[in-house]
Parts: sequence; C-alpha cells; structure tokens
Amino acid sequence: MKSTPLRVRFAPSPTGFMHLGNVRAALLNYLFARQGNGTFIVRIEDTDQQRNISPQTIFDDLSWLSLSYDEGPGIGGPYEPYFQSQRTPSYEEHLAYLIQHNHVYRCFCTLDDLEKKRLRQMALRQPPRYDRTCLRLSASDIEQRLQQKVPFMWRFQLDGSSLTIHDMARGPITYDLNHFSDFALTRPDGSFTFIFANFVDDKVMHISHVIRGEDHLSNTANQAALYKVFDVTLPLFWHLPIITNTEGKKLSKRDFGFSLNDLRRAGFLPEAICNYLAIIGLGSFTQEIMSLQELTQALDFNNLASTGHVRYDIEKLRWLNHQWIMRLDLVDLAQRCRLFMPERYKDVPHLSDARLAELLPLTRESMITLADTESTLGFFFERPSVDPQLLDEYNFPAYKNIIVQLSSHIDAATLSKQITALCKEHQLPPKNLFALVRIALTGTPQGHAIADLITLLGKDEVQARINALV
Ligand code: GLU
Repeated sequence: MKSTPLRVRFAPSPTGFMHLGNVRAALLNYLFARQGNGTFIVRIEDTDQQRNISPQTIFDDLSWLSLSYDEGPGIGGPYEPYFQSQRTPSYEEHLAYLIQHNHVYRCFCTLDDLEKKRLRQMALRQPPRYDRTCLRLSASDIEQRLQQKVPFMWRFQLDGSSLTIHDMARGPITYDLNHFSDFALTRPDGSFTFIFANFVDDKVMHISHVIRGEDHLSNTANQAALYKVFDVTLPLFWHLPIITNTEGKKLSKRDFGFSLNDLRRAGFLPEAICNYLAIIGLGSFTQEIMSLQELTQALDFNNLASTGHVRYDIEKLRWLNHQWIMRLDLVDLAQRCRLFMPERYKDVPHLSDARLAELLPLTRESMITLADTESTLGFFFERPSVDPQLLDEYNFPAYKNIIVQLSSHIDAATLSKQITALCKEHQLPPKNLFALVRIALTGTPQGHAIADLITLLGKDEVQARINALV
C-alpha cells in the first residue's frame, strides 16, 4: 500500500508578533517534517483583514530561528498561493459543493440576536448553542429575506451524534456533537471564516498531520465534520499543550519572554530558544543541549505524553542560553556580541571579529545572554569607574602602600608572583590584593585571572589602571 506523504504546515495569522506558542508550533512542525523526511509548509492565514499586520516579521522570525520551509510564501510550491487572502476561489468552490449537497443553510440572525440567545441559554444554564432558527425557515421566507438583501452567513448543519479524531498524544478523542453548534462558514460580509478556510487549505494541500495548539481542540471537531462530508481521510492531529508560567497560569503578554521579540532583544540565541521549546514537555533527555539537527534525531514522536500543560521556566532557558554561548564558534559568537555593544565603544568597528573572538574565551563563561556583552567585555574598551565602597570592602587602606610599590615597577610576566611576595612581606592576605587589582583593571573583584587580564589589556594599560588607584 502506498503510504500518504508526510506534509505538515505552520499556519500563523499575522495579527501580532510571534509568541512562544507560535514558535513552538512552528518548531515542532519543522522537526516532525525533518525527522520523517516530509514537507514543511508555511501558510499565512490572513483572512481577518481588520487585524492583519505585515507577515514579514513572521518570515524574519522563522529565518532567524533557522526554521526553513519547503513550500510557502517567497518559495512557492504546488499549491500556491500560500496566503489565504488569495485563495477565495478555492473556498467558494468548496462552499458550492456543500450547498449542492445540502450540508449548509443560510442564517439571517444578526450578531445581536445571537448574543441575546446566548445570554438566555446561559441564564437557563443550557450550553450555548445555535438554536437552528434559520434551519426552519421556509423557501419563501428565505426568498423574501434575499430580496430584502438581509445579510446572511452560511452555517454547516452538523449531522450525527458523535465524531472521533486521532490525536498523536492523547489517542482517540470522541466529540459529543450535541454540545456543538452548526458553525458558520462565512461571515455576514461574505468573507470566509477561519474554521472553513483552514479546513479547505489543509484538505487541498494534502496536510497529513495537523500540529497546533490545544486551543483549537473544538475547531477540530467542526473540521472533522467537514472532512467527513467531503469523504476525505482525516489528518492525524497533535494538539500541543498550552504553555503556562511558573504559577501554572497561561503564559501571557505580562510574562517576560512571552514574545519572541522580547527574547531576541534580551540577547537569547535562536539555538537556545528552539532547544528549550523542543525539550519542554517532551520527556527527559540525557543530553539536553541539542541543535535542530540533533533534536530532529532525538525527539520521539511515537511516544508523546499527553501532558496537561507545559511550564515555561525562564531560568532553564537562561541556563540553556549560557550553554549555547559556550558552544558557539567564537567568531560566530563575536559577530553576535557585536550587535549588543554600546555605541560608545568607538573602538569596536575597528576591532576585527577575530580579535573579539580572542577575548571571548575569557569572558563568555560569565555570559548568560548576549546582553551581558557590555558588562563582561566593557572593561576592555573603557577604564572602569572604581567604586570606593568596593575598595573599602577589600580593605584598600591597608594595601595602599603595596599598591604604590607595585605600580612603580610592574612586571607583566610575574605580576601574580609579585603580588603574593609583597603581601607576604607585609603580612597581609594576598586574596584582597588580587581582588583590588581586579577592581582596578575591570571594575569587579571576581573574574578573570590576572595573567589573562594582562594578555587582554597589555602591560601599559595594566600599569595605567593600577596607577589610577593610588
Ligand atoms: N491561524 C491559526 C492560528 O494562528 C492556525 C491554526 C492551525 O494551525 O490550524 O492559530
């Protein structure tokens, strides 16, 4: 038997910036396609003209994340166009089929009528469902309204009592259709609804697996009914659990890192973001730091757990980001750090990536995100402002004389030994002096080995900075 080709899609509505739920859906579709040697499609669901913004940010974000697609905007493919706003003839054709086979009826109820009905049902503690008023209209009632040009929408007449779909994580899901309304396929202005356009495109584009957020679970029931009347095999579904914050609440705009933009601006690497979003909620891994290629091999889509939700833990993401900073090629890291350098480091444009790459092995250990570039590398570009309180903390007055002595003849090759010897002579613990020298050189008491600092800054600069202390 010929098996169905594996085809998945990421179908964002361009109504705002990508948030982590979108990114995770795009990523898992991508990884699933790559693992199964399938096709990853991008389709822009821009039917809601009022809420649309330019989809360009979506393309930029996907490219930044390295989630390359095989069919879609800018690339083309056998089912062009990949923008729903340009696919109206296909929706019209499918609607015509449903009209012809009596699966739909016109609904003339106004939004106001519908809202009133809904409130009444709620007051009576009944599930809010469309009461099929318009299904009972006679042919002449309909004719009359059409003549009066009363706006209407097409509703799909749900038939049967239940429907079953297969979810890759949850197994079979059976919907009791008594809880569902005859849903709208068009809006009173004649445009097509999300439920319908999304179904038509998945059908026409031969999507084999629909991987999307669990907020679409009830849409799936309606769409399954459409597949049935068109006599098309249902795709397999994977409804991704919602992402919650550490308190278990749905992640929202108020949570830091909800939008991809926040993370990008805060210096998170696309590698770390993808790595993190792919491993949360998908079991435990002996080796957690994985590239897209490694993730493609490591994820087990045949044994998906049906977790209630996945918890977003920024600390874990920070940890992964640090691991990725340690893992990146140094010249690559240097190029990325450059974007986070303050303008005032005038030297930077003249400093080659190769030179920056030489500095990074000494500083990247203390970087969590690229935004730490300034605090970790800043001392290289400008002399630190020394905090007098910090000097006191390390008992500067007791060491002042030694520092004066030291500053007069620094021997770069043996500075550490010099420090130890002088402290011994004055019977003072060397630890404080090391800290004070570091404060003079970098502004902070911890961090780099003195020898490394000399290599980085050069003897003259070291001498000048120590001199400035006294
Ligand atoms: N446009 C829908 C959304 O952004 C897509 C849902 C789906 O993947 O089917 O939520």
